[in-house]
Amino acid sequence: MNATFNFVKDRAENLSNEVTQICSKLISFNTVNPPGRVRECVEYIEAYFKSLGVGTEVYARDPEKPNLVARIPGKRPSRILYLCHTDVVTEGSLESWTHDPFGGEVSEGKVWGRGATDMKGSCASAMVAAKILLDVDERERAYTEFWFTADEECGSSEGAKWLAETGRFRGDVCIVGDSFDSTPRKPAIDVGCKGSMGLKVKVKGRTAHGSTPFYGDNAVDKLLKLLECGRRISDFKLDVPPELESVIESSIRFALDDPDLTEEQKAAIMKQYHYPTVSLNLIRGGEKSNVVPDYAEASLDIRLTPGVDFKAVKKRLESLVSSSGVRDYTLEWHVMKGYYESPSSKAVEKLSRAVEEALGVKPTLKLMWGGTDGYYTHVVSGIPSPAFGAGVKGMAHAPDEYVTIENLVMTAKVYALLPLIYDG
Ligand SMILES: [Zn+2]
Repeated sequence: MNATFNFVKDRAENLSNEVTQICSKLISFNTVNPPGRVRECVEYIEAYFKSLGVGTEVYARDPEKPNLVARIPGKRPSRILYLCHTDVVTEGSLESWTHDPFGGEVSEGKVWGRGATDMKGSCASAMVAAKILLDVDERERAYTEFWFTADEECGSSEGAKWLAETGRFRGDVCIVGDSFDSTPRKPAIDVGCKGSMGLKVKVKGRTAHGSTPFYGDNAVDKLLKLLECGRRISDFKLDVPPELESVIESSIRFALDDPDLTEEQKAAIMKQYHYPTVSLNLIRGGEKSNVVPDYAEASLDIRLTPGVDFKAVKKRLESLVSSSGVRDYTLEWHVMKGYYESPSSKAVEKLSRAVEEALGVKPTLKLMWGGTDGYYTHVVSGIPSPAFGAGVKGMAHAPDEYVTIENLVMTAKVYALLPLIYDG
């Protein structure tokens, strides 16, 4: 039994009310992106750290989109970073909400509102973890930075991307708060996230009167033919890194543990790490119902397990598309590779230990399906970036978004324990 660890865990339980109130307050700032104005929210976070006597610094290109870092000194050799974002996605149609999206209502053991899960909950837990760390002897903790970034929901060019490119992130590990699947009884660490290949297909044709299609060249027809061939990429077997196989297995098991899944969904979940997922998310063509269209375009969203050969997928897709026999088209690619930390890396091992110490349960190691700002801290800054946070499964970007108070406390415990465990 380590007395300091016990102190930290008890303190987090005792601060349950405080972390709840902070989360509620953070939700009350409308930081919907776009436009992504987070200044007031960040000023509130800054004031909290000031009240703790913790030094902060603001980095902003746009004064309405500041990024804040709070630094807690430590005598242990490592540097730990926490990465949280303060912007949120739109609340969407109010009709789908039974709670005020910006009310920060607390009821049923939950805090409700836009951003509760993604990710003001993790922001609140990080703030309280900082408070707890200050009560631990400096010799027992590692130097820790708490980052609150802007613009995550719109590409991060004012946030983590810019901070990484300008060399602001330096550390031995960066814990990304965007992780939405843990509960105190079934915690999970995301060791990485999938990459994406966006493909835009543009097709040219020739207009004609709708009554004489044979005089025209129908761009929509051609596009459909191209897409039909291109979508066969979902049967292209991927070469997954062998060290990821066990994580893939546990990711699948974790996702299948859901009684609401249909057989079709289960099959898709089992397939999606060894094959690309493909989603036709945008299609556009035609101007008028009696005119043969001369232009059409579509966007395919293709997601790949990190570590696989993107070039091979691209090559295969190009050959599938050209096998359609269609002419006068162009392909535009937007590639963002995923990343992962080895399950045996120090970053993953120490974070797992912190979770186990906090909750008494070993976390499941898994891969996230979407992307996070961890891409920039891992790929650009070269810092191992596993993810753990307070978010609730299925709640990110959903109506009636909430986070549970027990998840807030859980995350505060883990975040406060890691700087004590990392150099142990
Ligand atoms: Zn997020």
